[in-house]
Amino acid sequence: MTGKRTLTIIKPGAVERNLIGPIITKINDAGFVIKALKYTKLKKEQARAFYAVHKDKPFYNDLVKFMSSAPIVVAIIEKENAVEDFRKLIGATDPLEAEEGTIRKIFAESKTHNAIHGSDSDENAIKESDFFFSRIERFSF
Ligand code: GDP
Repeated sequence: MTGKRTLTIIKPGAVERNLIGPIITKINDAGFVIKALKYTKLKKEQARAFYAVHKDKPFYNDLVKFMSSAPIVVAIIEKENAVEDFRKLIGATDPLEAEEGTIRKIFAESKTHNAIHGSDSDENAIKESDFFFSRIERFSF
């Protein structure tokens, strides 16, 4: 999947505000095709594990609490140059710094409650896809 796929999460907050449809529309309109999709909810320990790289950051506890607070939608999406193009589509981590038209600019509430996740490298796209999806789910389509 190197280069062509990335992993996204529509975060709590966005799901609670009924934004699954509008966000998926933006993703599809940008040329990404959904390859795997699930509606789920992270347990606190799972959110801790997913964001372990940030465990020493001051925002870690708030992030874990937020990410395990309500359901999320997780998807593997495909397009040429997926990781980089998707990071451009979602915009900067802080919606105040995100460019006009980006998903975070339109839908995020704050730096933590920022509506959507996108993998930051091909390596992490694979790791994160393994975290959420089984082999069958990842390689059937
Ligand atoms: P991303 O790749 O743009 O999602 O950003 P990071 O990997 O650096 O951080 C992961 C998530 O932690 C972000 O999407 C935010 O939800 C949250 N986060 C990152 N940096 C900050 C920060 O400085 N303050 C707060 N409150 N949350 C942050």
